[in-house]
Parts: sequence; C-alpha cells; structure tokens
Amino acid sequence: MGLLSRLREGLSRTTHQIVRRFDEIARRADAAGGRDRPLDADTLDALEELLISADLGVSATERVLSAVTNRRGSGTALRDLVKQEIRSVFDAVGDAAPASAGPAGAGGAPTPRIVLVVGVNGTGKTTTVGKLAHLCREQGQRPLVCAADTFRAAAVEQLAIWAERAGVDLVRAREGADPAAVLYDAVAAAKARGRSPVLVDTAGRLHTRVNLMGELEKMRRVAAREVSGAPHEVLLVLDATVGQNGLVQAREFMGAAGVNGIVLAKLDGTARGGIAVAIAHDLKLPIRYVGVGEALGDLLPFSAAEYVDALFDQEWSRGN
Ligand code: GDP
Repeated sequence: MGLLSRLREGLSRTTHQIVRRFDEIARRADAAGGRDRPLDADTLDALEELLISADLGVSATERVLSAVTNRRGSGTALRDLVKQEIRSVFDAVGDAAPASAGPAGAGGAPTPRIVLVVGVNGTGKTTTVGKLAHLCREQGQRPLVCAADTFRAAAVEQLAIWAERAGVDLVRAREGADPAAVLYDAVAAAKARGRSPVLVDTAGRLHTRVNLMGELEKMRRVAAREVSGAPHEVLLVLDATVGQNGLVQAREFMGAAGVNGIVLAKLDGTARGGIAVAIAHDLKLPIRYVGVGEALGDLLPFSAAEYVDALFDQEWSRGN
C-alpha cells in the first residue's frame, strides 16, 4: 500500500465524520443562497461544531471560521476554503527536518546525526523509535538505536525486539545506568561503525518531572559535546487519542527538552485526527511523522497536503 492510502486508512475514522457532516454543511450553504450570499449563522455554527469535534482546538477553529465568515460561494468553494486555511496552518510552521547530515568528522567520515525521542510513557515512544529505524533503513540510512530509558527494563527489552525487527544495531545499558552515559556509548559506537542517525529512546516518567527534565538536559549536553550541532532533532511523541490534553504535556517538554518536531502516534485510533492542526497551530512546531498502526511500516513522514486531502477525501470515505 502506498503512503497516501496508509495515511487515508489511518485517518479514516476522522474522515468519515468530517465528510458526512461537511456534506450537510455544504448543502446548507447552497440552500441558503449559494454563491450570492455569505454563510448564515447556523451554517457557521455547524462548521464550528464540526471542527471542534474533530479536535482542531479553539484557536485553530476560530482561524478557519474567520477565513470563511462573510465569504460568498457554493458548498464546494467552502470546502476548498477550509482546506486551504488548514493547509496554511501547517505551512506557517514548515515541515522540513533540520539539516540532515552532521559535519565531517576525523578522516572525512560523517559524524552521526542524533535524534532524541521524548514524551510521556505510553504515548508510543519506543514503538516510534523502532518504526523510525525501519523508515531510515528504507531510505538507505544505517541507523543505530539507543535504549536510554534505563528505568524501565521492559522498555529496553521492547526496543531490543524492535531493533531486531528493523535489522539495526542497539546500544543498551544495565537497568539504572545513567541515560547520558548510554547515549555517550551509543554515539561512540555509531562513530566507530559508521552509523547514522542515532535514534534515542528516552524515559518518560511524569511523576518526577524535575528529574526527567534534568536528565533530558544532560543528554542534550552530552550529545552536543560529542557531535557539534547535536541533538539535531528532538522529537516529542504525542498520542493522538489523548486529544487536547496532549498539548499541555507538550508544553512541559518544549522548554527543557528543546523539542523541535512532533511525532503524532495512534492517528489510526481516533476519530479526532484534527488534533494535528491544533498541534501545529498552538505549539508552532512541525509534525514530522504520524503513527498509523502498530506494525514496523506504520510510521509515515508527515505531509500537510496529503493530510488535508485525506481528511476531506470524499471518494475514499464513501468507498469504504
Ligand atoms: P512508550 O511507553 O511511550 O514507549 O509507548 P510504547 O511504544 O510502548 O507504546 C504504547 C502502546 O501504544 C503500545 O501498545 C503500542 O503498540 C501502541 N502504539 C504506538 N504507536 C501506535 C500507533 O501509531 N497506532 C496504534 N494503533 N498503536 C500504537
């Protein structure tokens, strides 16, 4: 299955809801006068309700509504306008990854790119690291994964299974070891073996937040000392099924961990997949990947254009 159809399938629960209700809104707009009259208050209310129920959040919803208020046009034109406005939310934060290659190291070998994967336990962090390793391999890279969630033996074991499935090297430490020391070992191994990127699974215990943030900061310092410009990416994994509450979690990580991109996991498990719009709008961070299932191949690079098309894709929704 192609990337686009996998995204559509992952979003299908959201799409079903949006398409069906949007059809009603479009009919209403046409019945109320179509091209010649601006949208009436009832139609705007219905649109607002739809966007909120899809989890776009209050401020992104307001932005879309203000773009369509006082506009004249058919139901189809309204759909295009809403899509265009949502697109522009993503365009405003960009979707490019930070520079991809590290600087040349001794002997001309490229130094590894370091990617920290952070987030609250249960959001899908370890699974994401496994899937990301697979994706990097498919793109011709030679990743190495680092098990730095040293407080959960189960997480290390789980990551070992993913590393094996993805066919990549794993650097792990004993339970209770210092995560920054494990990261140091992983970077040394990556340099020696010519591996890049180093994908780091970190701990996510919320109840000791101060310690957790301190630990992440220490890992950032070690990464920067070992590879200039590192960590190149700090990806925060958010669980799409948690909805708006995930945004509160996100803010806690953004400062201390220096998050510069989002992975939105479990998009397949929600009918409120509009949360992607709220994240881009409210956090001003690009969504880099979306998780659409539990298998190795179920992590997709995020594309705003494809996402918006999939959300409103009538053909797909009706045909399924
Ligand atoms: P961590 O505690 O943050 O490392 O979370 P895990 O990686 O252990 O994932 C928690 C649960 O979410 C597991 O049962 C995963 O299989 C599941 N999961 C992770 N990503 C996805 C996804 O994109 N879709 C679905 N449906 N489940 C996912």
